[in-house]
Amino acid sequence: MKNGYSDGQWTADVKGYSIRSGYDWLRVQQPKQDWVPLVWNKWNIPKHTIIAWIIMNNGLNVKEKLRKIGYCTDDCCLICGSDVETQEHLFFDCRYSQKVIHQMENWCGFPLQTNRSMGMLSSKGNLKQKVQFLMITACYYQVWMQRNSARMKQVLLMPEKVAEYIIEEVKSRIRRKLTKPVSSTEKKWLAKWGVLGVC
Ligand SMILES: [Zn+2]
Repeated sequence: MKNGYSDGQWTADVKGYSIRSGYDWLRVQQPKQDWVPLVWNKWNIPKHTIIAWIIMNNGLNVKEKLRKIGYCTDDCCLICGSDVETQEHLFFDCRYSQKVIHQMENWCGFPLQTNRSMGMLSSKGNLKQKVQFLMITACYYQVWMQRNSARMKQVLLMPEKVAEYIIEEVKSRIRRKLTKPVSSTEKKWLAKWGVLGVC
């Protein structure tokens, strides 16, 4: 990755560094990976994008990692307690996140394909795909937040409640991002998701 600073000056914006210019700079610096369309989908909620990017770079401090550096004595998943807490387990195999995903799939009406093979996801950028990526990254973010809540507050919401929260978040984001006319097929999807009133 190139350095964003040259001679102490932020190179991406003449006005100097800002969170927005830093975010945009980071977005365009990424080498092409299968997961790029998912992580850098413009409809994603920015804080979700950051977590998804860290996940794809295997950067979260999950317990497997923390135990190896002596930060904790066990590496059990903080959510289900039945397996080693790796990123892979938390987001793809943990029965808790699977329940959240299942609820989301029931609501949206299509599979979310939250498996490791992000290459399966194309980058066509139609509405359904943008919403699919928006939902996947929202699920990653909320599962990670729940895991942190379990760790720090010993509080864990039911997966159904988490899914309800994600759905409201997703609906609100769709309303904000819908600025262009949509096709009749897309209208049907929007009606199904309960966000048709805005277009
Ligand atoms: Zn688990």
